[in-house]
Amino acid sequence: SSFLSDRVTTMQESQTIAMAKKSRELAAQGHDVINLSFGEPDFQTPQYIKDAAKRALDEGFTFYTPVPGYLDLRQAIVDKFKRDNQLDYKPENIVVSTGAKQSLANVLLSMVNPGDEVIIFAPYWVSYLEMVKLAEGVPVEITGTLENEYKVTAEQLEAAITPRTKLIMYSSPCNPTGAVFTREEFAAIAEVVARNPHVHVLADEIYEYINFTGEHVSLAQFSEIKDRVITVNGFSKGYAMTGWRVGYLAAHVDIACACDKLQSQITSGTCSIAQKAALAALQGGRSSADEMVTAYQRRRDLVLEMAKDIPGFIMPKPNGAFYVFPDVSGYFGKTTSDGSTIQNANDLAMFLLNDAYVSSVDGEAFGAPNCIRFSTAAADEKLRDAFTRIKASLEKLK
Ligand code: PLP
Repeated sequence: SSFLSDRVTTMQESQTIAMAKKSRELAAQGHDVINLSFGEPDFQTPQYIKDAAKRALDEGFTFYTPVPGYLDLRQAIVDKFKRDNQLDYKPENIVVSTGAKQSLANVLLSMVNPGDEVIIFAPYWVSYLEMVKLAEGVPVEITGTLENEYKVTAEQLEAAITPRTKLIMYSSPCNPTGAVFTREEFAAIAEVVARNPHVHVLADEIYEYINFTGEHVSLAQFSEIKDRVITVNGFSKGYAMTGWRVGYLAAHVDIACACDKLQSQITSGTCSIAQKAALAALQGGRSSADEMVTAYQRRRDLVLEMAKDIPGFIMPKPNGAFYVFPDVSGYFGKTTSDGSTIQNANDLAMFLLNDAYVSSVDGEAFGAPNCIRFSTAAADEKLRDAFTRIKASLEKLK
């Protein structure tokens, strides 16, 4: 339609949302659909955090908030960086936003000029590509090998950097692969960044707490490049607070100020009640997150065990987040009982939705067209049920 902007007409609709829509339709028809398409914890927000939100209301926190966030929350985030990441920041380095998603958008819109290249480690979270395009940047995807858990190497990165490179962006732990960069891998990447002073890094650490390796490494810990690393994090995953919409970034003060300015013209400060809840979440430490992580790890193991019996699912072991991301290209070219051919991962995801009533997300949107993503953030029985059904459905393909 001519009344819509090119900006929005050329934008992909979020794939995760499209699949969820379809599975709701099947569920409405009475099918027992197991939804493994969402990137969302299945846990309730811990009670102490809910209580803090109720208190905030009663105490009258109902007014506009400072654009970069309440000072006490920013101070708590500073303390969190010190405690968890051994990083020194001041409140002026922190900008609180309506979700990590907004933090990422703030950075891209504040830093990218038309034509600037943004290197994206693939497979990547669906929104990265569209956000870069929205900022009129040129996305440059680089993909690690399956043998290396899809992790990009320092050599690959070095080869992709040009004089036009503005930013590098990735998530670790990674959505969708669950890959976690090690200290050695990041040290090598940090060296490449150090040699390229025109390059900044946008590090998405939203899955920080959901890490089964025991060590989370922040690229900002490499002090030579700290001023050029923007770290994004939030409350959605670690504290099961997806609906509250609170995220944040830590950056050099010039970048933080730019994000503050941008946000001041678009959304203003984040919801007062949600900020007070986020403050309580941080003050409560990590113990509620650690309990959830125990469950995520058990479910990861359960799914890996079941997937072993599915010959066409080729995947590295996820070391974090709550997804499995098998390469399913072995099924391409096979036919279903009604005679249609599985041509790509989307066909296979649709087949699994229609035949096994399990929803997933096809890898195309993550920059990995041979893969499908299943969330493992569901109850153990559901996961067991889902992968039993998936196996049975796949055995029908000829
Ligand atoms: N970054 C990654 C890698 C994600 O998977 C998500 C959510 O799915 C986000 C950012 C957005 O998080 P938030 O809910 O804080 O906006």
